[in-house]
Amino acid sequence: MQIPDSLAELGRKRMGDRPVEGFVYGGGPDRPALMLVGEAPGETEIHEGRPFTGRAGKELMKFLDRLGLTRGDVYITSAVRSRPYRWGEKKNRDGNIVRRKYNRPPVASEILAHAPVLDYEIKHVQAPVIVTLGNVGLKRLAGPDKKITSCHGELLEQPVLKLEDEKFVWTDRTYRLFPTFHPASIFYNRSLLEKIHSDLDKLAESLTENKKRPEEK
Ligand code: URA
Repeated sequence: MQIPDSLAELGRKRMGDRPVEGFVYGGGPDRPALMLVGEAPGETEIHEGRPFTGRAGKELMKFLDRLGLTRGDVYITSAVRSRPYRWGEKKNRDGNIVRRKYNRPPVASEILAHAPVLDYEIKHVQAPVIVTLGNVGLKRLAGPDKKITSCHGELLEQPVLKLEDEKFVWTDRTYRLFPTFHPASIFYNRSLLEKIHSDLDKLAESLTENKKRPEEK
């Protein structure tokens, strides 16, 4: 599944002149084993034109491996498709201060700008479970009251938020959401890895459960 180019163009237009760059399409099969919703691409992703190809992506591939899946089995996307950046300063090898762009998390107006893109994917990709990676994807879909620290590793069956007349409203149908931490979170807090592994093991169990025919359950 790939979104129509016209929708990507709409996403770019809605972003206006906010400090973001590039546009990375989500990607994967129409009927993937899972749909993964991250935060926003970083420098590497903008360069490669594919989500989760940088440092966080390497960790994400290990998560998939633990689930017995590969990148080709899943649909990978994020709440925002352009790289949010901020300007900062860095000393180069010669000791000169140079200005450069740093990744930053997306803000609410950027999430709103790209909401129609994620809404389209949620509607068209038929995944048995949507895994949200970190707080941004979780709050975008399950509502601002949800917190990753209290609901990670829990299978939620509920409607998701979609944009209608520039306001977030709940979908009529329910989805199966599985929140876990963003793979980049372990760079700042290594102890989260244990929690992520336990979440993934629960997810693997519920996927197996889902695959069984009703008479086997
Ligand atoms: N983080 C995300 O949420 N998406 C990417 O593609 C890379 C890092």
